Amino acid sequence: MKSSSLTRRDLLGSMLKASAVVAISSPVAAGQSPHASSTPVEDLVAANRILAQQGILDGYGHVSVRDDATANRYLLSRSLAPALVTATDVQYYDLDSNPLDPAAQPSFIERFIHGEIYRARPDVRAVVHSHAPSLIPFGVTGIPLKPLYHMTAFVGEAVPVFEIRKVRGNDPKMLMVVHNPALGLALAKSLGAKPAVLMRGHGAVIVGSSLPHVVGRSVYLALNATLQAQAMALSGNVNYLDPQEAREDVPDNCQRAWELWKRPVQEAGCRKQEAGRS
Ligand code: MN
Repeated sequence: MKSSSLTRRDLLGSMLKASAVVAISSPVAAGQSPHASSTPVEDLVAANRILAQQGILDGYGHVSVRDDATANRYLLSRSLAPALVTATDVQYYDLDSNPLDPAAQPSFIERFIHGEIYRARPDVRAVVHSHAPSLIPFGVTGIPLKPLYHMTAFVGEAVPVFEIRKVRGNDPKMLMVVHNPALGLALAKSLGAKPAVLMRGHGAVIVGSSLPHVVGRSVYLALNATLQAQAMALSGNVNYLDPQEAREDVPDNCQRAWELWKRPVQEAGCRKQEAGRS
């Protein structure tokens, strides 16, 4: 027993020495992930996985980011469950939501959500469309989703609700989904200048100035909905943030939470790559 534990200790020691050598020779600053400087595609993959892990996206829903180089383009994965997205699944789209590559893989039916919001909102650089369960009751009851705690002060007065019945016309198919540019534009109008909009009987759209920002907002908005339902069950007199309090965003635009959430999903990705090589 003793000799085997010594062996393990020796092994651990040599591993630590090896990692110290890597740390010295690496240009990455101490304490940073070796993947700290990610490309937009890598960050979009991370955003997909974080949102899946946080229970915001399941098999459905999507997240996109505006192209840094060309503002009238955005990046979105092919039609795929978010937890399974890798870099090769990311495709470029114009604001009409046509894929730039004629040989692109099949796209999400609801990609028009993204294109029309990027067109309507030059300030928006990332968009999430989710079916997060905690949000659904606030789209169907007339009870407004309101900021209950400081992490959702960005909500402002309340989250608007998009009613697709008012705009879908007589199309008998795909009654509940945003499957064309006109519906995307109507949804963008319901969003207005706000950070989020609920979709009655369906889900929500959340927007932000970056992927960390929109991921954080998506997580905290869903938490707010859970907390608000709990608070309303306890009391008919819930003390929401007042208008002055409900004006401030999370100070670092959710960067710290992003670093926390990104590390494990990237490490899992690295392990997968290494397993693939061996
Ligand atoms: Mn949907």
